[in-house]
Amino acid sequence: MALKHDWTKEEILDIYNKPFMDLLYEAASIHREHHDPNTVQVSTLLSIKTGGCPEDCGYCPQAARYHTDLEGNDLMSVNQVKAQALRAKASGSSRVCMGAAWRNVKDGEEFDNVLEMVRSINKLDMEVCCTLGMLTENQAARLAEAGLYAYNHNLDTSEDYYKEVISTRGFDDRLATIDNVRKTNVTVCSGGIIGMGESPADRAGMLVALATLNPQPESVPINALVPVEGTPMEEQEPVPIWEMIRMVATTRIVMPETQVRLSAGRTQMSREGQAMCFFAGANSIFAGDKLLTTPNPDVNEDMEMFKMLGLNPQKPFVKKSQPESVAAENSQFQSQNEKPKWSRPGHKIERNLEAQQKAKTKV
Ligand code: SF4
Repeated sequence: MALKHDWTKEEILDIYNKPFMDLLYEAASIHREHHDPNTVQVSTLLSIKTGGCPEDCGYCPQAARYHTDLEGNDLMSVNQVKAQALRAKASGSSRVCMGAAWRNVKDGEEFDNVLEMVRSINKLDMEVCCTLGMLTENQAARLAEAGLYAYNHNLDTSEDYYKEVISTRGFDDRLATIDNVRKTNVTVCSGGIIGMGESPADRAGMLVALATLNPQPESVPINALVPVEGTPMEEQEPVPIWEMIRMVATTRIVMPETQVRLSAGRTQMSREGQAMCFFAGANSIFAGDKLLTTPNPDVNEDMEMFKMLGLNPQKPFVKKSQPESVAAENSQFQSQNEKPKWSRPGHKIERNLEAQQKAKTKV
């Protein structure tokens, strides 16, 4: 059956609000039609450049303007990244996702190093994903040529609520970057965070933005906010597990073929809660004791959970074949030293400004 791409917010909200058992049954049935329900893909997220980010994302301890206890680091070396990727592979991960706290990618030595990291992980026969901020068409093409498998660029929330979370860039920039990735053969990973004070309608709004993309993203991470002291969202109440399960199930129903990633917030979930998320259609997790900067279950604990539930980690390149990796000296794409004008709406977000103010008085 052809995938539906004309979802409306009302339709998605109706699904989200279904009686719980009906929602779960429908999501699990769709999941079984499109995926092996006992296979879960395991990714390792590596923060290759931590902290010092110029953006003002209200949930993020890496934003330089807030005062958190985060220890930042400059871009890691290719060898350091390769060593960590080997460890991730040995512990069952099929994918390495490298995250850098940048607003957007800038051509130059650091980006060239990231391209080398992509080449070296691809050579380990692992799927390589990057999340580096906004990206031009040429930069996306260079990443694809290096052998990138996926690019992560989250929409975070609905277009409406985005304005309550971030003021330093616009929602349209996110879509433009996804569009640039789509012009290559790199797969798209894009999702968001729940528990930032948004309404169920905003959650549905985010899913509309994702599900109406054609093609739909190959991967959609669903994160539960992990409130970090010093960030504007430090006092947000944790998301009830029932809302997380509803969100996972709704995502599964509206994007049947997508890999739904149970991402940040798993340390706050019981195993029973996580099992229900897998039943409702989640089929990927991030492994490792840190998710960029927030805590995550230990990989041994996850493997124990997998054993208990009879889940198997997915092998790499099951959904799409391994991309070829072109060596730097044979590259067809050169640095264009572009200076794209990504937007900067600059509207006032009270809680972001307050957190910024507090940070100034603390330093
Ligand atoms: S979420 Fe990304 S872009 Fe936003 S402040 Fe954190 S590191 Fe920067």
